[in-house]
Order: sequence, then structure tokens, then C-alpha cells
Amino acid sequence: MRIAHLLTARLPVLRAMQRSYGLDVSAALLRTRGYVDGQWISAASDFPVLDPATGEEVARVSDCGPGEAMRAVDAAHRAFHGWKQRTGKERGAILRRWFELMVQNKDELATLITVECGKPLAEAAGEVSYSASFLEWFSEEARRTYGDVVPSPGRDRRILLLKQPVGVASLITPWNFPSAMITRKAAAALAAGCTVVVKPAEDTPLSALALAELAAQAGVPAGVFNVVPCSKEKTPSVGEVLCTDPLVQKISFTGSTATGKVLLKLAADTVKRVSMELGGHAPFIVFDSADVDRAVASAMASKFRNSGQTCVCGNRFLVQSGIHDCFVEKLAVAMDKELRLGHGLDPTTTQGPLINARAVEKVEKQVLDAVARGARVVRGGRRLQGSFMEPTLLEGVTMEMLCTQEETFGPVLPVIRFDSEEEALAIANASAVGLAGYFFSQDPGQLWRVAEALEVGMVGVNEGLLSCPEGLFGGVKQSGQGREGSKYGIDEYLEVKYVCWGGLGP
Ligand code: NAP
Repeated sequence: MRIAHLLTARLPVLRAMQRSYGLDVSAALLRTRGYVDGQWISAASDFPVLDPATGEEVARVSDCGPGEAMRAVDAAHRAFHGWKQRTGKERGAILRRWFELMVQNKDELATLITVECGKPLAEAAGEVSYSASFLEWFSEEARRTYGDVVPSPGRDRRILLLKQPVGVASLITPWNFPSAMITRKAAAALAAGCTVVVKPAEDTPLSALALAELAAQAGVPAGVFNVVPCSKEKTPSVGEVLCTDPLVQKISFTGSTATGKVLLKLAADTVKRVSMELGGHAPFIVFDSADVDRAVASAMASKFRNSGQTCVCGNRFLVQSGIHDCFVEKLAVAMDKELRLGHGLDPTTTQGPLINARAVEKVEKQVLDAVARGARVVRGGRRLQGSFMEPTLLEGVTMEMLCTQEETFGPVLPVIRFDSEEEALAIANASAVGLAGYFFSQDPGQLWRVAEALEVGMVGVNEGLLSCPEGLFGGVKQSGQGREGSKYGIDEYLEVKYVCWGGLGP
């Protein structure tokens, strides 16, 4: 197996992996310093990036602090005036080149994702394609920021509604999609004419820095796309700059609801525009009329992708009594057949590690709590060495159990039995968050009723994977505000200005 160009002699651990898995790698896109105003910048210290599968250090990255964050904001502010003057077509052409470079460098980008985030290589390659697709989509949308000419109530006036870029945007992103969560924001922002400062998660700065390298190669001007990686220790002070600096007009955050609330408070003092893509707790409902094989295949894809560490993955599996036993039985068989734990670089692996020990502890706690309250472990249930957790199937789950009350973010599939549609909807909607929801049914009336009744921002009807740039992404309730992707995503980075043109008539 050949994965071209990635890692260097500076990364002995990865060279060992290279030998184990037969990868041919070098370091074309490996960058370990911050990227500000078109320059690679060092900081006073650096922090380690760990392979979550082994716990070993794979790189050390500049630990940017508030000083570097301010420099980045200043650079973005200076670059804004030039970038917004370019036409949408010109900005789109640069985004298009960036997209093409991502496609050309797909293998290297995927390897970086696997090494820092743990997901299997095939999934990482899928993330690169998904990530690049936002650059492609918004390269096209850049030309379509139409305003309106509105019929006026007075003969001597004309009413224009113009769309204009908001300004400098701070983009704060999580580790679970270290590439796609950046492009889903940055592509829309740059298409609109905004400039950005990205703060990636401590665990996964390498994908963000590789994106910066490709942005430079694509011709994104200095200061338009900046990246300030930092450690968890520095994050609060860097976050404070990015969320309070008066030169920043917009904050777009993806991460947990708890952090989102902190950032919303920080944003309040200078009344910044905000987009919040926060936590989920998705219901996945299987009604008696469902095609059970389709429901099982979708549950596998929804729950076990990225070892259950996605904000839209099914978190509560509600299965109607008539189909319950068949669903659980088939799911257990599918788990036995399809899931294999291992290092993400091993091509036979389907389940990588969780991101760190803290993540496994949370998942283990949920499983122990469920078992203590009477759930039955059908498959898995054990924490393994390091950050690995067995894919776990629980039945007999009830609403007092922790796993039905909070996001799991791990490979645990809890099955709750229900009898009626009303009961399923009541359980599904009894949550403070509402990001994605799924249901499986072949009853046409039920399809409409349930799609409309679920209190979520995205619904999968007989479908377990729904994200794409053409469709929108976003939640209701405490899953956040604002939308990414689709024709609406660019609006998050645009103001609508009203121009009233008077004195035109007799
Ligand atoms: P997190 O702890 O909230 O961290 C997300 C990002 O925020 C990281 O870059 C983190 O930096 C940073 N951060 C934390 N505290 C901060 C502060 N005071 N100021 C500025 N930045 C701060 O979330 P996570 O554990 O990485 O990600 C998992 C969560 O994200 C889950 O709840 C998941 O549902 C959600 N998520 C939502 C979506 C969506 O589109 N709705 C997509 C993916 C994930 P450090 O890494 O340095 O802590």
C-alpha cells in the first residue's frame, strides 16, 4: 500500500508505523508552526500532538498565545479590505484551486487525520472529500450573494437590499472532524469576502496547518486565512482574544454546548454575530413498518462511524416492540461481522480509538451506569487498553440511565423499547438539544407526521447519513444557532444593508 509523501525523520513514531503498515510516507504537508499573515510563526513554547491509538507523540506544534492571536486578528483585519474588494468570481476561483489541491493531496491529508484523530484511513479519506466539497460548493456560491430590489411605497424612492461581508471571523473548531469543520466555515466565510482566524482543537492542529499550506499554494492572500494552534492551557486566553477583540465581527464555533455557552457570554460585550454548532443527542427511531435490514445498516453507519464520535450519530435507539427483537438480533450479527478494532492506519481497522482517556472514561461510566440500572449487554461493554472501547450494544435501556440523558460520543448503542408513535416522539423530544434525528418507517402518514414533529434541525428519513454541502447543517434548542452548508451557509458571513435611494421622482 502506498500513501505518498507525509512524515519525516522528525517523527520516529510514525516511521515505525510506516514500517508496520507498509506505508510510503514523507512530509510534504506537515507543518508545526502557526500561520499568520502568510508566514509560519513560532511561539515561546510548543505542545505535543499524540497518536490517540498509542499515546505516543507524533509532532510538536507551536503553542500560540494571546499575543499570536492578536497578531492574527490584526492581519485578518488588514487583509479584509483587499479581499472584500475582489469579485465573487475571483474569490471563487481561488477557492476552486484550494479544492483541487485538497483532492490532489487526499492521501496525505487523510493520513494526517488518522494519525492525530484516530479514525480509520478510509474514513479519514472520506472526511477529506467531504471537507474539500465545501470549498467546491462555496467556490460556486461566491458569485451568488444576490441582494434585492424591492418595490418602493413612494414613487420618488428606490429600495435596495445589499449583501456585504461581515468582516473578520474567528473560527473555533473541534477534533472529531479536524479538516471538515474548518472548511465548512472558512469556505463560506472566504466566499462571502470575510477573512478568518482559525483556532483548531489541541488534539488536531496538523490538519488545520496542512489546510493553511494548501491555501497558500492556492493563492489565498496573506492574512485572509490564519491558524493559531494552541494547547488546552492557552485555549481560554486565545479564545478570549478571538471572542472579544473589537476587530472581530463574527464568531463561528463548533464544539460542545458547554463551551458554546462560554463563548456566547464572551461575545456579548462587543455584540458579535455568532454561529454555534453544538452538541447533539440524536434519536434514531425504528417503527414496526420499517425495512429492518435498512434500519440495521443505517444504525451501523450512524453509530460506529468515527467510533461514535460524531455530533449527528444516533445516541438513543428507540425500537418499536413488534420489530425490537429482530432489530437487536440483526444488529448484533452485523457488529460481529463488520467491526474490527485497531490502529487507523491498519487497512483492516473499522474502529479506531477514542480521542483520549477522558473520552473513554465517560463512555465506560455510561455503560456501568446502564448495567447497574438493569440494561443487558448484548455485545461489547468493556473498556480496553489505552483509549479503545469495545463497540457496545445494550438492550433494556430506560430513561433514568445516563446514556439516555447525555451525549455519549463513543461506540455505545443503547436500545429503548417503545409501543406507540406518541411515546417515541415524547422520548425523542425530551432533550434540551436538537441537532439530528432519524426514523425508519414505511407508513406514508407516519413519515410526514414524525418528520414534522421531531424537534431537531436535521432529519434522516429511512437514512442514517445525511450530511453533504448541498444540504444544510445545524440544530435547534441548545444544539446551537445558525446554519452551515447549503445556500444558507454563506448568509452567516453576510450583512444585509438597506439602501434607500430618494429624490428620484417628481
Ligand atoms: P469542546 O471541548 O467544546 O472544544 C471545541 C473547541 O473549542 C476546541 O478547539 C477547544 O479547544 C475550544 N475551546 C474550549 N474551551 C474554549 C474557550 N474557553 N475559548 C475558546 N475555545 C475553547 O468540544 P470537543 O470535545 O472538542 O468536541 C466535541 C463536541 O463537539 C461534541 O459535543 C459534539 O457534539 C460537538 N460537535 C458539534 C458539531 C456540530 O456541527 N453541531 C460538529 C462536531 C462536533 P481545546 O481543544 O484546546 O480544548
